[in-house]
Amino acid sequence: MRYAIISDIHGNLEALEAAAQELSGERIDEFILLGDMVGYGADPLAVIKTARSYGPKASIAGNHDWGSVGMTDISGFNKEAAFAIRWTAKMLDEDSAGYLKGLPLVAIIGNMTLVHGSLENPSEFNYILNDGDAYITMSLMKTPVCFVGHSHVPGIYRYKPRDLEVFSAGSKVSIEPAYRYLVNAGSIGQPRDGDPRASYAIFDEARGVVEIKRVSYDITKAQRKMLDAGLPATLVYRLREGK
Ligand code: ZN
Repeated sequence: MRYAIISDIHGNLEALEAAAQELSGERIDEFILLGDMVGYGADPLAVIKTARSYGPKASIAGNHDWGSVGMTDISGFNKEAAFAIRWTAKMLDEDSAGYLKGLPLVAIIGNMTLVHGSLENPSEFNYILNDGDAYITMSLMKTPVCFVGHSHVPGIYRYKPRDLEVFSAGSKVSIEPAYRYLVNAGSIGQPRDGDPRASYAIFDEARGVVEIKRVSYDITKAQRKMLDAGLPATLVYRLREGK
């Protein structure tokens, strides 16, 4: 089985379509959606519709997904993010809102655990930003591999008791039985690692290989739509910076 793991699309249809185009040549068997389909970008409804059309094997709740349908408190969101959530809520139709409300916080599919933020109280949507954060989730996972999103920074952590090693983004790892792996798939629609290209992961279960990949997309088009929609300029301009 070859899985495509897609996270944090954030209403960016141009980035999603570029990734899908790239993935069409990757012999993907199943799609996994890791949350935050909406928020920030100009196309929440089209993104939900498109992502659902892939018939994902699993679709996990993100804080923006739940925030836009009143399922999580957004008082901790910054001004621009909160503005975008309120805008997004107005754009959703009943069917899409119902879909977001029904998303689970955690799922286990074969060798994979899937969660948007971290396994420590998943409904709090904590960030995994360093080895210590990664350790907490890796000590809780019951499968060899766990995929997360949320920070928009792709990366792979490898863990064995009393041994924590961090791989740099863009790397490819072979799953070894002695280790557990925590993979942040990065963000399709709003990367924050300084590389503006859309980020996603591919897990080849039979070969035991995880790889993070990047693809360029039409950033200008996505930006123009956001400006036309009246979304905050800081959200528009950060797409080009990848921050
Ligand atoms: Zn996100």
